[in-house]
Amino acid sequence: LSRRVPEPLREDEIGQLARTANATLDRLERAVARQRQFASDASHELRTPITALRANLEDASMHPEDNDLHAVVESALRDTDRLEAIITDLLLLARIGTGGMLALEPIDLSELASTEIRRRSFNRKINTQLYRHVMVRGVRVQLARLLGNLLDNAERYADSTITLEVTRKNGHAVLTVTDDGVGIAPADRERVFERFTRLDTARSRHAGGTGLGLAIAREVAQAHGGTLRVEDHPHGARFALRLPLITTLERLPR
Ligand code: ADP
Repeated sequence: LSRRVPEPLREDEIGQLARTANATLDRLERAVARQRQFASDASHELRTPITALRANLEDASMHPEDNDLHAVVESALRDTDRLEAIITDLLLLARIGTGGMLALEPIDLSELASTEIRRRSFNRKINTQLYRHVMVRGVRVQLARLLGNLLDNAERYADSTITLEVTRKNGHAVLTVTDDGVGIAPADRERVFERFTRLDTARSRHAGGTGLGLAIAREVAQAHGGTLRVEDHPHGARFALRLPLITTLERLPR
């Protein structure tokens, strides 16, 4: 890559063509760089638990008398779980982009939200405000996973209360998950969506996630023609998902 078409100083079709060609090259180069970064991050993330696993097992095999077999197995199982979680997430992430095979169906976002809430147990107080019939078109398992990720994070970071709202705004379906925890500094609000980002807070370090949850959530939102962002909120963090609404016309039987 990296060779560019000379851009003649003219506004006609040739000039435009040269600029378009160069802009496409720029985009390709950035995409290649992102892929490379991802591969290197992924192998780094996988290597950490493997190194820990190997060290423990080697130590146990060389000094069996100093090791409590039960503790060694427990810790090996934890490392294995972590590896499995990372690999599952990586595969999921790789599949979203090529997800043309999954069926789109009309989904009532409020119904999906109450189902997800019923399926999990919370140690926090949870407030909901769910407008009825907020209809979007999507892949149910993917949207459920996105919402599940936001709820897991909220449960992890909230001090006492989580608020979940589903509403319509400016022709969009809007779902927000708000918590009253430490929040996310403005400088980190885009960073949290990058793969393997874990903010350097005590809670993140102990939380033991894969750092892929929000990256997956944003890819799902975008694959559905929507957006996922952190919004300003005076106390705690607020994540907002916007998806195109299905219009009444689209819902009529054909
Ligand atoms: P993880 O698997 O680490 O939870 P995520 O992609 O879901 O990965 O989140 C990335 C990071 O974003 C978290 O490690 C945490 O630092 C930060 N984060 C996510 N949700 C919240 C929240 N509700 N409040 C504060 N920080 C959050």
